[in-house]
Amino acid sequence: MDQAREQLREVFGFGDFRGRQAEVVERVMDGCSTLGVMPTGAGKSLTYQLPATLLHGTCIVISPLIALMHDQLRAARANGIRAATLTSADADWRETMDAFRAGALDLLYVAPERASQPSFCDLLTAAPLAMFAIDEAHCVSEWGHDFRPDYRQLRPLMDRFGDVPRLALTATADAHTRSDIMAQLGIPDEGLVVAGFERPNIRYAIRHRDNPVRQLTQLMEDHPGPGIIYAPTRRKVEDLAAKLAAATGRPVLPYHAGLEPGTRARHQAEFVASEEVVMVATIAFGMGIDKPDVRFVAHAGIPKSIEAYYQETGRAGRDGDPAQATMLWGAEDFARARMRLAEMPEDRREGDRKRLDTLANLVETAGCRRAILLRHFGEDPPQTCGNCDNCLDAPEVIDATEVARKFLSA
Ligand code: ADP
Ligand code: MG
Repeated sequence: MDQAREQLREVFGFGDFRGRQAEVVERVMDGCSTLGVMPTGAGKSLTYQLPATLLHGTCIVISPLIALMHDQLRAARANGIRAATLTSADADWRETMDAFRAGALDLLYVAPERASQPSFCDLLTAAPLAMFAIDEAHCVSEWGHDFRPDYRQLRPLMDRFGDVPRLALTATADAHTRSDIMAQLGIPDEGLVVAGFERPNIRYAIRHRDNPVRQLTQLMEDHPGPGIIYAPTRRKVEDLAAKLAAATGRPVLPYHAGLEPGTRARHQAEFVASEEVVMVATIAFGMGIDKPDVRFVAHAGIPKSIEAYYQETGRAGRDGDPAQATMLWGAEDFARARMRLAEMPEDRREGDRKRLDTLANLVETAGCRRAILLRHFGEDPPQTCGNCDNCLDAPEVIDATEVARKFLSA
């Protein structure tokens, strides 16, 4: 591990490992297959990039989105790591394949669709492999919130290279999804490393939606820094962005998949560079965005699942400074979600129903919000966190009864 620490400083420029990175790196360096469950922003990429620079052979990275791959590629190359992507969007695939065969790559990023291509399997036999890294590994499980059938082709491919260690990574896996991921990818039970999900600087608040424009205007006035507001549809995004801009006079930009790619990229760049821009967006926005000073994340309707909620709110306050996560919900949100559930194929319904129940529980509880979130991710939280609406409002309840008592006894 001394060598790994030295590499951490020299290649990545970091003084020390964070969270449980060291444990994951050590296991992989020892050739042990591992599932690393760490929150968004914890630094999962490093846990395969670092071993890839030290181990003999190439690390094959499976990643579900080409845009994410290209972000990672840029970052890896900036650190002087020999990396390439092999996707349908790359014109230089011949050079990439030659470089791989010559053993000149530390990292080769591919989409899961490759796994089922015999030509890709052949390619992998042409040079030594250091490891397989499976990013967003919850995609392999029907219990996860983003099942991708192509991920199921990874196991047969990896089994052809049985002695090459596998490192699966995800931010969002409850206990059931975790054991499913490990079974699906052939990772032994002792290979599980779970890092803390606690984000103490995020203050959670969940309120009934009675007048969203007024409620969100208030939120923006309370939080002058950059923020993200998630809305369920493109139309609501446009509508809210216009109304909030008018109500607050602050820069508010819309973001959704229906915008011109140029506009989308411009809005994203403005948001990332700004200290005050508020982005009103569908969930198309946020993945792969590394902006540390987001001061609030709001949901104008319920998120898709409790995992999605954790991930989306987790974009607030990555710098560790206080940040707000506010959800506005209505009974119709749950009605709609239950309807969608009824339309789902039977085999996927059960997991999604559980997730929706937990979400309903989170919304309805009079207890600690954080406790419900953390328990969902397998942690054992204290009864109260002191930094969510329910924990903070509790003293007021006592005050109110105090007032009532005085009033009655007077
Ligand atoms: P994840 O995939 O877990 O969401 P990333 O791998 O994208 O997170 O890393 C998030 C950020 O953390 C990146 O900017 C990365 O450079 C930074 N980072 C990773 N490891 C460390 C470390 N040991 N010390 C400081 N920063 C780190
Ligand atoms: Mg990542």
